[in-house]
Amino acid sequence: METVTLRKGRDSSLLRKHPWVFSGAIAQVSGTPGPGETVLLRDAAGKPLGLAAWSPSSQIRARVWTFDTDRQVDAGFLAERMAASLYRRGIAERDQPGAAMRLVYGESDGLPGLVVDWYPPFLVCQFLSAGTERWKQEIVAWLADRIRCRGIHERSDVGVRAHEGLPQSRGVLHGEAPPATLELLDRCPGQSDMRFLIDIPAGHKTGFYLDQAANRRVVGAMASGREVLNCFSYTGGFAVACLAGGARHVCNVDSSEPALALCERTLALNDLPADLYSNVAANVFELLRAYRKEGRQFDMLILDPPKFADTRSHLKKAARAYKDIAMQAAHLLRPSGILVNFSCSAAIDLSLFQKITADALLDAGRSGQVIRYLHQHEDHPVALPFPESQYLKGLVCRLD
Ligand code: SAH
Repeated sequence: METVTLRKGRDSSLLRKHPWVFSGAIAQVSGTPGPGETVLLRDAAGKPLGLAAWSPSSQIRARVWTFDTDRQVDAGFLAERMAASLYRRGIAERDQPGAAMRLVYGESDGLPGLVVDWYPPFLVCQFLSAGTERWKQEIVAWLADRIRCRGIHERSDVGVRAHEGLPQSRGVLHGEAPPATLELLDRCPGQSDMRFLIDIPAGHKTGFYLDQAANRRVVGAMASGREVLNCFSYTGGFAVACLAGGARHVCNVDSSEPALALCERTLALNDLPADLYSNVAANVFELLRAYRKEGRQFDMLILDPPKFADTRSHLKKAARAYKDIAMQAAHLLRPSGILVNFSCSAAIDLSLFQKITADALLDAGRSGQVIRYLHQHEDHPVALPFPESQYLKGLVCRLD
């Protein structure tokens, strides 16, 4: 096995079990390990620190598989890690997963760069690192054997693959291809069933935003009797929840026509009368301003935009964008209106996001309180030594 020696003093994050090694921390590499090859990490004095997947093109040059250097990284090791991920989500040995959920969430599950989502009866995978790409066949073989599924689909068509020197990739990995739209049933004791239509082959991410699953229920329960403007609606996840929760009307806004078309079909599938909702294809930044000019008012406004800050270098621009939409939203809310403000940028932490929201309300001449803090769903856990996995935060604010 090739050996990677770190510079003096650059082992502190690894000692705290953070799994990334940046290129600048490396003093020396023996040989020329290939992409995804397992390497032994050592500190400057030669002490073994962990076994990691090598990624020669990436700034994140190595991702730790295990801090136990007596282990072997092989198909059996990966199987053990995937079984542990399932177990963590309440799926014991031999059990099958029930409703849709994320089964593996990368670094947080000890499998850096691997995402596995379950949309019964299909599995969807993303291989986002050289290490997971190297072990793709073994990972797929284990999943196909362990989980009774109709097919396993790949959605590694994401920008981050380029950082790892990997091409975008999507398609069938095992079994059947998923249909163009798949119906998901979301059940919750004591609450109405919700049905969602998802597009695995061409939708966003792996097809759906599983990270908002519990938040939809929470927000939906607050929507009773309210007129809701659901901005960045995608296929209407929050719309279904708000209408199930008794909203008076929901207006969905998204710039994507295919997303809105699926939103329309999703709402119809839930047997919701067509006069309870409307779908508007528009740029949210422009529409909020137009509605202000028209004097439109709402009782609840949801902002769930795409990631504005990819990295810390985009922080300022992103902060301005978050502030702008929150300020425009505040202008449109009636007294006692509710603003549900999300950010999925990991680079913007909760305290900064709260400050941005506070400044936005101030500039709009409104005051309000946070009545609920929201978070990515529990099947997207945050590994304590790896705060980078904490990305989704939501503030539910009641305006005066
Ligand atoms: N709330 C959704 C997820 C939103 S994802 C859910 O729960 O499923 C972000 C959405 O914002 C995408 O659907 C994307 O098409 C849309 N979008 C991105 N920029 C936009 C803009 N400027 N105006 C309107 N929609 C935009």
